[in-house]
Amino acid sequence: MKDKASPSAATALLGASEIRRLAEELGIRPTKTLGQNFVIDGNTIRRIVAAAAVDPAETVLEVGPGLGSLTLGLLDAAQRVVAVEIDPVLAARLPQTIAQWRPERAAFCDVLQGDAMRVTELPAEPTALVANLPYNVAVPVVLHLLAHFPSLRHGLVMVQDEVADRLAAPPGSKVYGVPSVKAQWYGKMRKAGVIGMNVFWPAPKIASGLVAFERHEQPKTPASREEVFAVIDAAFSQRRKTLRAALAGWAGSGALAGEALARAGVDPSARGEVLDIHAFARIAEAKQLPQA
Ligand code: SAM
Repeated sequence: MKDKASPSAATALLGASEIRRLAEELGIRPTKTLGQNFVIDGNTIRRIVAAAAVDPAETVLEVGPGLGSLTLGLLDAAQRVVAVEIDPVLAARLPQTIAQWRPERAAFCDVLQGDAMRVTELPAEPTALVANLPYNVAVPVVLHLLAHFPSLRHGLVMVQDEVADRLAAPPGSKVYGVPSVKAQWYGKMRKAGVIGMNVFWPAPKIASGLVAFERHEQPKTPASREEVFAVIDAAFSQRRKTLRAALAGWAGSGALAGEALARAGVDPSARGEVLDIHAFARIAEAKQLPQA
């Protein structure tokens, strides 16, 4: 919040007064529907950029650059930033902000107006995803981008703190659920910190959490991602039921579910919350196997 440096200083970041001025100039009121909570604190931006461990040769994909708080920090750390913003007013203003605050880096920033949940093509191959995500769509955005951009090797996202816990939860934990398992398909997720509410404008009512991830090889299985994800959805749609009962609809009957689970080496009386992604992959495979 104390970033009083002039726009020409190479590391100057947007503070509270710059954010308010920009919003006023654009006549915008941040909307909840688009999760518009803008970071007004340079130290938080520095913390996010440091935690993201971006290499200077990397192309970073940023989702929801908003008024550009994080974009400026990323431009200092990476070779190139590709930013996807759904709000046409914010997307249209961002190149001007970059030109004002980082004129020497302006040629290395692409701003695309669009929905990050639908984007399938980018002007450069991103190797890192770094974003202060719109909270209501954070998980689908992360899963969509990991599925469509295999070049994404690692990343760091800021999400609601409870979503951060869920994404990084290990099997057996209380908050382990669909996002935790699906994220494991792509990589290892790790909680990388908690961020308070007063570094945003407007301030959200809940704390935010940082999640760092490293992509790993996807599970080796003849089942497709869609098939494995269908088992995960079925297992958690009735969280309290045993897997045999929860997967009855998916398998065709409780008996068929029991057989598939036995073939997968999974206890039919267990619950989905104790299984990792590899166990879900084995169950998906077992449905395809000819019955003995
Ligand atoms: N990065 C900025 C910052 O840290 O100050 C803004 C972060 S704000 C939490 C989320 C941003 O995502 C907003 O600018 C919002 O307009 C944008 N947004 C919301 N839904 C989106 C979507 N589906 N695709 C791309 N951008 C989206």
